[in-house]
Amino acid sequence: MGEAAVDPRRRVPRTDVLLADPAVAAAVATLGRARVKAAVARAQQRVRHGEITPDEVRDAVLSDLPAPGPRAVLNATGVVLHTNLGRAPLSPAAVDALVAAAGCTDVELDLGTGRRARRGRDTLAALAAAVPDAAAVHVVNNGAAALVLAATALAAGREIVVSRGELVEIGDGFRLPDLLASTGARLREVGTTNRTTRDDYARAVGPDTGFVLKVHPSNFVVTGFTSAVGVGDLATLGVPVVADIGSGLLTADPLLPAEPDAAGTLRAGAHLVTASGDKLLGGPQAGLLLGDADLVDRLRRHPLARALRVDKLTLAALAATLHGPTTPTRAALHADPAVLRDRCERLRDALGAEGHKAEVVPSVAVVGGGGAPGVELDSWALSLPERYAVALRQGDPPVLGRVVRGRLLLDLRCVPADADDTVRDVVLRVAD
Ligand SMILES: *Cc1c(COP(=O)(O)O)cnc(C)c1O
Repeated sequence: MGEAAVDPRRRVPRTDVLLADPAVAAAVATLGRARVKAAVARAQQRVRHGEITPDEVRDAVLSDLPAPGPRAVLNATGVVLHTNLGRAPLSPAAVDALVAAAGCTDVELDLGTGRRARRGRDTLAALAAAVPDAAAVHVVNNGAAALVLAATALAAGREIVVSRGELVEIGDGFRLPDLLASTGARLREVGTTNRTTRDDYARAVGPDTGFVLKVHPSNFVVTGFTSAVGVGDLATLGVPVVADIGSGLLTADPLLPAEPDAAGTLRAGAHLVTASGDKLLGGPQAGLLLGDADLVDRLRRHPLARALRVDKLTLAALAATLHGPTTPTRAALHADPAVLRDRCERLRDALGAEGHKAEVVPSVAVVGGGGAPGVELDSWALSLPERYAVALRQGDPPVLGRVVRGRLLLDLRCVPADADDTVRDVVLRVAD
């Protein structure tokens, strides 16, 4: 750095000046003064040691602070349920409900009588009302927890009969067979990868059978020389049938004809259905259990149920999702391509007016997140040079698109319509 007239180490920014910086002050509000002051002291020390210049102190303070946790991002990937982006975004009603539930609530109290009440009774009532075919319902932490509870309570030390074609990996290395075996149940695999018949099941079922498990292959399709046994046929085997439908569709959606729904699966004869709350249902992470009253009761009373129970925030958000208006997930699934095209063109024109060239191109969106594999949704995207991808991903808020053949596509199907201006602003900021 040479012999400057004033040694930069002497110009260490003062603590009160740094704490008055808006970004640093915001950090004080969320992290507390002591922690931020310690970071300020460390950064000042680094200036004195000549490791950074006085101009770099503010950024050094900010980068020394702990990350604030998950950040809100805009999903322009065209993947409706993106696992890495937290699957289903909650509806405004669900967000309001969980904010209201964040304080003290009557989650286990009857305000009428002043007595203890069944935890989450309103949520359970809403779920039961949404699926009248279920005699009883229960909610746990997620879909995997629902399966673990069923396996533990109904088949620990006994056998779960399951087709080899349905021993799936959910994602991120989690495999259903391992999950089930961890409960102490033994897996009795029947059939082959591509074909399993009712006879295969019938030969395996016996006094040691806890239940027959039917798993919806929610993230892949097998085509060609295949056969599988439907829930209706399995229900004639004389043992309980547990169906893991995966996505949490409560009733059939004509847009997704191959996706099983809870009501239809129960009507077909399943004794217990398990599903996720944050896939096609469009709610918070949760595991739904619906079915025969005696089976659900056994699950509910099992000691493990206490370890898998959901918190009041989940109960609140799930109730609001079940009661509420169309979820963002459903809105994205059923978005009209003509409207999406219109939004893309308006964004293109707004960017064009600022001298930035973008194109409007057809796109193909998917359900993602372990639901409706193979279903393609016609969509529209704004096409930008690929170099925008990293800057937008690191924008404020981050905007996630997908790179296709050297272009960055921002598919608007999963972007809320009221966020188009935000997309425009972020693109303009990173383009300059
Ligand atoms: C997603 C999925 C699960 C796991 O549910 P989580 O809510 O992610 O725990 C289990 N089975 C099937 C078929 C699924 O699609």
